[in-house]
Amino acid sequence: MTSSSVRLTVRNHDRDLAGMTYVYPVLSRRAGGVSVGVNLNPNNACNWHCVYCQVPNLVRGAAPKIDLAQLEAELDGFLTALVEGDWLARHAPAGGREIRDIALSGNGEPTSAAEFPDVVELIHRLRVKHGLERVPLRLITNGSLLGRPRVRAGIARMGEIGGEVWFKVDAGRGEDIARINGVKLPVERVVRNLAACAALCPTWVQTCMFRWDGQGPDAEVLAAYLDVLERAGTARLRGVLLYGVARPSMQSEAPRVSQLPLDELEAIAEAIKEKGLTVTVSP
Ligand code: SF4
Repeated sequence: MTSSSVRLTVRNHDRDLAGMTYVYPVLSRRAGGVSVGVNLNPNNACNWHCVYCQVPNLVRGAAPKIDLAQLEAELDGFLTALVEGDWLARHAPAGGREIRDIALSGNGEPTSAAEFPDVVELIHRLRVKHGLERVPLRLITNGSLLGRPRVRAGIARMGEIGGEVWFKVDAGRGEDIARINGVKLPVERVVRNLAACAALCPTWVQTCMFRWDGQGPDAEVLAAYLDVLERAGTARLRGVLLYGVARPSMQSEAPRVSQLPLDELEAIAEAIKEKGLTVTVSP
């Protein structure tokens, strides 16, 4: 999604990765290591359509039925290559050979998978098996399905096992959410879902800000966005991960999306900090 990481795919002709459906490594220079990605949306289906989305051939929909045995075999095999094999030595630069996290993040909304809570349990089991309990388990989500009991159960379990959620909030008015995220979503529901998520598991808000038709977010757009965070309860949030659009959108709206200059992104970060939140900026 929105990061400057290098996502390796089977096109890299890596024998450890060939044929994997659900598991992919992301080498991040900035984070100084490898993130183990778990993609529950190999069908490129998401219930949202964000204008900056980097998923190619994105379609509207939900995750397909997950083959848990295959996912377990892939993740077990890859963690074995990382922990016992020479995968990191062959691929990661010296000084960047740490396993940074295991992230439920992929080509769509992970919590749309009916098996989401089973996947959380499966990942945790393998984390323990490979002695990786200290490696954080992250869920990157648009947070829109928190109304479902199974999604809340999976997130609650993540809270118990030291997980962390990155919850997408880009805007605070219905019209802005519709334009940016391609979804009709009452703001009240965003507030409710974010508050519920933060009560179950440590939660960071993940926000993408950019220029649309050459215009950055105006004062009203920003005020409505900040209002969502305040109404959800800033004290309950870990902070905000503020992103620009470093990598190009793969959607048809791409020509209308452009980067905000760093000083404008930092001014937004300052406004968020004034609400008492920690902010990290990734232009
Ligand atoms: S929620 Fe994520 S995967 Fe879905 S459209 Fe937005 S950026 Fe893409």
